[in-house]
Amino acid sequence: MKSRTKVVVIGGGIAGCSTLYHLTQEGWSDVVLVERNELTSGTTWHSAAQVTNFGMNQTMVGLKSHSINLYKELSEDPEYPINYHHGDGGIRLANTEAQMDGYRHFASMAKGMKVDFEVIDADECAKRHPLISKNNLLGGLWDPSDGDIDPAQLCQALARRARKAGAEVYRNTPVTALTQKSDDTWTVHTEHGDIDCDIIVNACGYRVNEVGLMMGVHHPVTSMEHQYFLTEDIPEIKSAGRRMPLLRCPISDYYCRQEKNGLLLGFYEQDCKTWGMDGIDPNFVNALCPDDLDRVTDVLEGAFDRMPALMEAGIHTVVNGPITYTIDGAPLVGAIPGKRNAFCIIGLRAGLGEGGGHGWLLAQQIVHGEACYDTWCIDPRRFARHTNVELTALKAIEDYQNEFRFHFPHEHRPAGRNAKTTPLTSIFAEKGAEFTVVNGWERVDYIKPSKDFKTTLGFKFDEAFDQIEREVKNVQQNVGLCEVNGFNRIEITGSDRHNFLDRIFCGNVKKQTGKVGLGYFLNHHGMLKGEATIANLPQSDRGPERVWYGSAAASEYHDMDWLRQHLNPNDDVQLKSLTNDITILVLAGPNARKVLSTCSRGDWSKDAFPWLSIRECFIGIAPATVMGVSFSGELAYEIHIPNASLYAAYLAIQKAGLQFNIKLFGARAVDSMRLEKGFLHWKADILTEFDPFETGLDKFVNMNKNEFIGKEALKNRQSKECLNKLVSLEISTKIAPAHGGATLSIKNKVIGTVTSGDWGHRINKNIAYAFIKSEYSSIGSEVFVDILGEKINAKIIESCPYDPNFNIIKG
Ligand SMILES: Cc1cc2nc3c(=O)[nH]c(=O)nc-3n(C[C@H](O)[C@H](O)[C@H](O)COP(=O)(O)OP(=O)(O)OC[C@H]3O[C@@H](n4cnc5c(N)ncnc54)[C@H](O)[C@@H]3O)c2cc1C
Repeated sequence: MKSRTKVVVIGGGIAGCSTLYHLTQEGWSDVVLVERNELTSGTTWHSAAQVTNFGMNQTMVGLKSHSINLYKELSEDPEYPINYHHGDGGIRLANTEAQMDGYRHFASMAKGMKVDFEVIDADECAKRHPLISKNNLLGGLWDPSDGDIDPAQLCQALARRARKAGAEVYRNTPVTALTQKSDDTWTVHTEHGDIDCDIIVNACGYRVNEVGLMMGVHHPVTSMEHQYFLTEDIPEIKSAGRRMPLLRCPISDYYCRQEKNGLLLGFYEQDCKTWGMDGIDPNFVNALCPDDLDRVTDVLEGAFDRMPALMEAGIHTVVNGPITYTIDGAPLVGAIPGKRNAFCIIGLRAGLGEGGGHGWLLAQQIVHGEACYDTWCIDPRRFARHTNVELTALKAIEDYQNEFRFHFPHEHRPAGRNAKTTPLTSIFAEKGAEFTVVNGWERVDYIKPSKDFKTTLGFKFDEAFDQIEREVKNVQQNVGLCEVNGFNRIEITGSDRHNFLDRIFCGNVKKQTGKVGLGYFLNHHGMLKGEATIANLPQSDRGPERVWYGSAAASEYHDMDWLRQHLNPNDDVQLKSLTNDITILVLAGPNARKVLSTCSRGDWSKDAFPWLSIRECFIGIAPATVMGVSFSGELAYEIHIPNASLYAAYLAIQKAGLQFNIKLFGARAVDSMRLEKGFLHWKADILTEFDPFETGLDKFVNMNKNEFIGKEALKNRQSKECLNKLVSLEISTKIAPAHGGATLSIKNKVIGTVTSGDWGHRINKNIAYAFIKSEYSSIGSEVFVDILGEKINAKIIESCPYDPNFNIIKG
């Protein structure tokens, strides 16, 4: 066994084998994999091993396409061919129009990744799958490349290729402890000795948290028991003369594929069970949980109804094994939050289909610092500290119960709610708030117009449309109040704080005390990594001169890790998170200044406190810090208040606002308004796949300033043709917004992808942002957007159609 290597991958299931192989493909051959038993002795050995192309966003579709292409190549390797039934095809069924709309949207989105799904009706479903009935069926989504693979052969093939490229694999070598040294490299302690390495990767399947514990980390991953059975031969399959396509059924929660001349049927029962919550037997190796088919009778009935031939088929084998789930159902692939040189590829619930792609994207991140796609949807830093073992289990159960029922836009499921609240949450609830969840925080989405008001889940504009309009109009014409909790806030102190930020940000960093600026930072490839406000606070009885760094709630771990990683040892810079201590109340509208002046002493006039100023003050008796910034495009103030004083501040604002009939507004109104202003959302419109020039942020880049992260790479990119442009679109339909991922085309040629869209209530137009190939990006150009299966006309418009000169914002 080597005593030193570059990377140690821990775990020899599909996750570990794929990572090892792809590390060698990215050019690193001094890498090893350690496995406590034999390869594939965790979940991988008994997987149903279906391989599908379906994903809810372009990154997932892209990584699954990579799996499929790789598996095809492996299956055709003359030296070591493996069994892969590629291209049996598969159908995701639907019995509601809303589900069909979802499929239409996902088909539009996949086109941008060169994947052709087909939305088909019930007759066509029955034609393509001769065993199914059309009872209670509207249609489905056809995925032509679906199939299944031999999981053991797949892992052996990947390990074999990795070994050929120089990697080493140590079987029967349990990792017993991990030590991080002062230079941030690691020692991996195993039963057969120690291995020093630069980087470790946790790929330990259901034992993820045993290894997590060795480095003091809890990963939000829970295992669920999951069952399938195999039937005896079914005559209709034997005589069909072709293989049956896969089935995925959100109506009755099962999946199905052909196995020999019978079927393999897997279940997602409502009466489901977590597994291993109180520890896992060390001897649970190549093992299964006891069968329990009684638990799945509810789902089984639906399957019998859909495939009557099943009723005659004998069952010859039942498999019940642990399968991992994360808090939002998507895996955790990337850097481990708060740790250096430590990565994970865990929480895979469809690891056979996705594993090839996840290993590929992870290896790119390890070797190059970033992958070819934006990987936020699988980034382990997308959650914060609230994702404890109990919350993870609740969400895992909910996700398992809804395995094939994708989330609709604005759908926030009930399990594990109220993980993070403020003293105002229950007050807003009493006022009729409907809540959305942002990084665990309960945020007001909108105020329900009546107590029993409900929207229909779907992809079209919903019943809340008129209420959102009322909230927007009140902000535009009067004054509104909105709580923004969980906004990521980092206090930066020390004499080098501005030099440090100058190194991080690609543009000029506001340094003047009492002033606020907006900035963007890049990765080492010159691509957009993040966005933050930089506010400079004076020395006062609340602290020394300091910067408040503010960014999206979801970026809490992501941004802190990035800042910490780029501190130099001699920098006099201290970083402290205030995210969980402070909440923002936004006061917005033409009467905002009058309300603020009524509840807070001092001169709040335009001259004394212009746009982009910051000041410490009191709101009533509550200590507060006010910034003159606006995401809505109206005159607005962000009032930052310690949570202990939030209720007092709220009462003072409400009292001052009484005479103006101040009203609450929520996140959906904000989203509509920011789209009219050309303001971007991190990880919807700000992606690592595009540089700041492509994203239209030229005025936030200063190529003449000293070094900043990504400058050289950006210079290189600047010297080449700009390939894409973020544009604003006006879309000619009142039926549905353009959801992120929808495809843009001209003469059937794909030319771009929508990032976000909604109705702009002040300009009364359906608007969206999209990345589009530069040659089609001029203002006034006409394109088509594929919205729910229809090609809708759209026109490229100026990026800020509401108050383009920013006169209103400046008050
Ligand atoms: C019944 C069932 C059906 C499924 N069907 C499908 C399907 O059709 N399609 C699909 O895509 N997915 C399916 N899955 C999910 C898929 O099988 C998993 O996502 C995948 O196998 C997970 O692979 P892994 O490498 O992450 O974990 P594992 O296969 O569990 O591998 C982890 C490895 O880490 C090793 N390890 C753990 N601790 C240590 C340590 N301390 N030191 C060294 N090594 C260690 C283990 O021994 C193990 O070999 C199914 C799962 C189940 C349970």
